[in-house]
Amino acid sequence: MFNQMIIGGEKLAGSATTIPTYNPATGEEIAAVGSATLADVDRAVAAARAALNDPDWSGLLPAQRADVLFKIADLIEANADELARLETLDQGQPLGIAQGVSVGGAASHFRYYAGWVTKIEGTVNSISFPETLNYTVREPVGVNALITPWNFPLMILAWKLAPALATGNTVVIKPSEVTPLTSLRLVELCHEAGVPAGVVNIVTGGGDVGAMLSSHMGVDHLSYTGSTAVGKTITKASAESNLKRLTLELGGKAPSIITKHADIDAAVAGNLGGALLNSGQVCAAYTRFFVDKSVEDEFVSKMADAMQSMTIGAGDDPNAQITPLVSEKHAGHVLDIIGRGKGEGAELVTGGNRVDRDGFFVEPTLFRGVTDDMSLAREEIFGPVLSVMAFDGEDDLMSTLARANNTDYGLAASVWTKDIGESQRIARGLRSGAVFINMLPIPDMAAPWGGYKASGWGREMGKWALDCYTEQKTVWMHYG
Ligand code: NAD
Repeated sequence: MFNQMIIGGEKLAGSATTIPTYNPATGEEIAAVGSATLADVDRAVAAARAALNDPDWSGLLPAQRADVLFKIADLIEANADELARLETLDQGQPLGIAQGVSVGGAASHFRYYAGWVTKIEGTVNSISFPETLNYTVREPVGVNALITPWNFPLMILAWKLAPALATGNTVVIKPSEVTPLTSLRLVELCHEAGVPAGVVNIVTGGGDVGAMLSSHMGVDHLSYTGSTAVGKTITKASAESNLKRLTLELGGKAPSIITKHADIDAAVAGNLGGALLNSGQVCAAYTRFFVDKSVEDEFVSKMADAMQSMTIGAGDDPNAQITPLVSEKHAGHVLDIIGRGKGEGAELVTGGNRVDRDGFFVEPTLFRGVTDDMSLAREEIFGPVLSVMAFDGEDDLMSTLARANNTDYGLAASVWTKDIGESQRIARGLRSGAVFINMLPIPDMAAPWGGYKASGWGREMGKWALDCYTEQKTVWMHYG
């Protein structure tokens, strides 16, 4: 089992304090990882700093660095079965998702950014100085802390690690203490691919270890994916230490607007996937369903039928469509918000209970009659809970858009309609980093990903991630 930190190319167990990690489908402990001390974090940052000037890394020609990333992609694919099973065991997600989205997505990311290594460009600028050349070069930002969440641990790490390495940086990774295993294995594979010792370090532990990195004077840039609350804490720590640069991918509360011009069967199928992929543990998951009153009954009854026919099971059960939540704590959070929804007067259509079996399973749950001020409409649930909030299609579009935008978050949003003009008017009016028209909220490595408002700062993926991991230097030369 891969449960040891890797610092400067060496494995070490960490302090005597260990953190157990559980199989969400059974509740059984599967491994325990050490909790890094401040001395461990200092060592990891120092190893990353030293590796920045290691000629075996900084001296690689772009095409050689690209080869290292291609090799990492090859090794992820060569170990795909093991990685996917490990992700399902630790995170709980369906094995098919672990294979296709998590492992497949991670390999694609490394291959995509391998392609970028030889295409990173500067500019020559038309300044108004006589006999002066002015150009820019991109340089690695330096030592990067990568702090990741538990919902798609391997894939989200790849979103950060691939562009960081493509641009010649070094990193210290801190995976979620709830799902550390595939991240630890990926770091082993990086070394197998020829990444020199110290370029990719990984420390394990909880929020306290993340906090050590956030306030560390030796970290130049921190890329974080996780909750908005922790994102704010990290921002404060950065401001109070060295003002390290931040990339923040935070929470979401995506609206899905279903108009009377929607194909209702397609909307039911698409929103079922959009809401319940990985049991709703998706930052872009659709959660607030603004459905035109004239089609609300049809949508609710078809959605309820579809939800009731879903198979609940462990991730390695090929028939399972609803898999467990990641932890006992998280199942408690989801059940608590369901309880508050009932208490605040929302109408429970289906689900609403913990499943009577071992592990952390919660039924797919549908509420209707949810109003804008209820906890169900305001708080991030991150579970299999859908809230229908009807709108009157005779009202003007602006009032529905105002309701959809009435949240602190702005990561993703969706619209379902066959009317092209309507889809564009709604897409333009939604305040969110991504709008999905008649489709599921699935990112692609070539398109920017990130949030408006309290959903984050910056954009990952595509050429935009290169900005997160590079400094731009302007060189001036007088040649007269
Ligand atoms: P979390 O905020 O609890 O933890 C995320 C990471 O931060 C973990 O590694 C954790 O150990 C670490 N951490 C905790 N306290 C810290 C502190 N004080 N300083 C530094 N690091 C600290 O998030 P989670 O529960 O693991 O993940 C779920 C959240 O992630 C949801 O809010 C979800 O919306 C968000 N998310 C966002 C995206 C996106 O692309 N925007 C993607 C996936 C998940």
